[in-house]
Amino acid sequence: MADNLLSEEESLLRNTVRDYSNDVLATRAADYDESGLFPWDNFRELGDMGLLGLGIDEEYGGSGGSTRLVALAAEEIARGCAATSVVYIAHLSLCTQFINRYGNEDQKNKYLPDLASGKKVGAFALTEPGAGSDAAALTTNAVRANGHLVVNGNKTYISNAPEASVIVTLATRDHSLSYKGIDALIIDGDLEGVTVNKLAGKMGVRASTVGEIIFDNCHVPVVNQMGGDGVGFRQTMEVLNASRISIAAQCVGIAQAALEASIEYAKNRKAFGGTLSDLQAIQWMVADMATETEAARQLVMNTASLRDAGLPFNTEASMAKLFGSRVAMDAAYKAVQIHGGAGYFSPTPVERYFRDARVTEIYEGTSEIQKMVIARNILTD
Ligand SMILES: Cc1cc2nc3c(=O)[nH]c(=O)nc-3n(C[C@H](O)[C@H](O)[C@H](O)COP(=O)(O)OP(=O)(O)OC[C@H]3O[C@@H](n4cnc5c(N)ncnc54)[C@H](O)[C@@H]3O)c2cc1C
Repeated sequence: MADNLLSEEESLLRNTVRDYSNDVLATRAADYDESGLFPWDNFRELGDMGLLGLGIDEEYGGSGGSTRLVALAAEEIARGCAATSVVYIAHLSLCTQFINRYGNEDQKNKYLPDLASGKKVGAFALTEPGAGSDAAALTTNAVRANGHLVVNGNKTYISNAPEASVIVTLATRDHSLSYKGIDALIIDGDLEGVTVNKLAGKMGVRASTVGEIIFDNCHVPVVNQMGGDGVGFRQTMEVLNASRISIAAQCVGIAQAALEASIEYAKNRKAFGGTLSDLQAIQWMVADMATETEAARQLVMNTASLRDAGLPFNTEASMAKLFGSRVAMDAAYKAVQIHGGAGYFSPTPVERYFRDARVTEIYEGTSEIQKMVIARNILTD
């Protein structure tokens, strides 16, 4: 995005995160991908830079700031290391933002300062083995008893769960009430009855650790419920709608990284008496990648601007996520193609981009679910 369309604050933030991403995140990304370890140093540095508190109220230790700023940060982080951007978004846009939005004074004072500074890692636990796209079918239950909510059930594919000290969890009081029975709870990761098992065998974004969570007679204080009874599902949909802007920005970051690697390679790889960049077939791929990446970026920034202006943005957020994830996949695919055999091996980063891009079509609502949302909103208007 041209600098003159960003405010001074936006331009400064983007350039600062871009430099950090180039100099630090990108240089560590391959090692983290290989080890699959949680990127603690990246996470702490994002905290030191104030980025983990972006969009979080300053009175609770956050940095304040707009949705546009979060989107710019998410894109630049993803450009250097997609896995770190997943850690970032799960922590900030799902867990921390949920508490910032729906927590009461006590909950915000207790949890937000440590989350916004990076002292604690946050996770958001909605998905279950039997409830993914159909989230209202969740069965983890929370039954009131003696000032506590006794939680039993299993969550799966939860980003940051193995490291999380704070887990925003969706549970049902009464399964027969469907979505109207769902409540949102803040659960401390070290509470008795909480067991987290790290899930292995991820295709991409490997340093973004993912776990299953087992709640076994876990006694959560009643004061840890956010909002009233039965509002958890609506809260979740609102948080997910906003977080999709961050995921769409992550997609733009992956696509931009694939584009930049392709330009560099095409200009240097010798073929047929010139370089790949002399060949029209390669030029056209690069032109498509650049055009689609910029179009995805404009969708992200437009949606973020709508949200910042207090205007409806749900349809646009789903469009940005749907389109962005397609563009990230397509750019990563073309980047591998432009690199030829080299693109199939890990010393070039594009094979990682290809694996990293894939999940963006799945989490925070699959592409099919985004189409359902867009079509429903358009057809019922
Ligand atoms: C790496 C990773 C990290 C994740 N992190 C988190 C996290 O932090 N917190 C969390 O709660 N969850 C997380 N998830 C879970 C993720 O949100 C779900 O995997 C996703 O919502 C899809 O649910 P599912 O896997 O159960 O697939 P399903 O819902 O079983 O869907 C399977 C297929 O059927 C399609 N489908 C389903 N219903 C419909 C329909 N009505 N119409 C058309 N097609 C349909 C889907 O689009 C998909 O193609 C993560 C997942 C992954 C892979």
